[in-house]
Amino acid sequence: MSELNLIMLGPPGAGKGTQAERLRTDFNLPHISTGDILRAEVADGTELGRKASEFMNAGKLVPDEVIVGMITGRVAEGDARDGFLLDGFPRNEAQAEALDAALLELDRHLTATLLIEVPDDDIVRRLAGRRVCVKNAAHIYHVDFDPPKHEGVCDQDGSRLEQRADDREDVIRTRLEVYHEQTEPLIAYYDRAGTLRRFDGLRSPDEVHAHIRATVATLRLEENL
Ligand code: AMP
Repeated sequence: MSELNLIMLGPPGAGKGTQAERLRTDFNLPHISTGDILRAEVADGTELGRKASEFMNAGKLVPDEVIVGMITGRVAEGDARDGFLLDGFPRNEAQAEALDAALLELDRHLTATLLIEVPDDDIVRRLAGRRVCVKNAAHIYHVDFDPPKHEGVCDQDGSRLEQRADDREDVIRTRLEVYHEQTEPLIAYYDRAGTLRRFDGLRSPDEVHAHIRATVATLRLEENL
């Protein structure tokens, strides 16, 4: 069986986490979210978490030296042997190059970069209304578009829902600037590498999921030929 080494690319709030969770179940791949890993470090009060939190709360990128080792180590772990879904990494060209080098070292290659495109104005509306389960950050809601059955309570495990500190409008604007300046150039980078696949993130989560799942299933067939 061939590997499915996948990157989710797109602005914050494009739906990368939501789609990665669905693909995790479809293709039995680990969902590796740098944001979720960092937030867990912050919650645990670790040294890394302390270093990362000031950047995160300001909407800026955590320095590469903190992130790169964390992720290149993670993709080499046993559960990522048949592939992985990277969500939130790479975020700039230096990280993309570090990932390429790490995969080469492991004699592996990227299967696809799944780009979910959403305009800035829609992003602001989405993120400002986003609410996340305090117990499992993969349980995500929206006050208008995808409300929980009971306000402020997670449908899946009954935990409290909260707004992420960096989902405040001023921080969202900074995150979008950082995305356009540092992360968007990766679209051209992966286009040149021939791995880029584009998806319209304005479609419903179900439609986006159906499109991505069909693309990944085709890629897997091609890899097996
Ligand atoms: P996310 O949940 O992906 O939006 O990430 C939340 C925050 O974590 C970002 O705004 C950054 O401060 C930090 N972060 C996540 N992934 C990375 C990365 N690959 N490089 C640098 N900082 C990151």
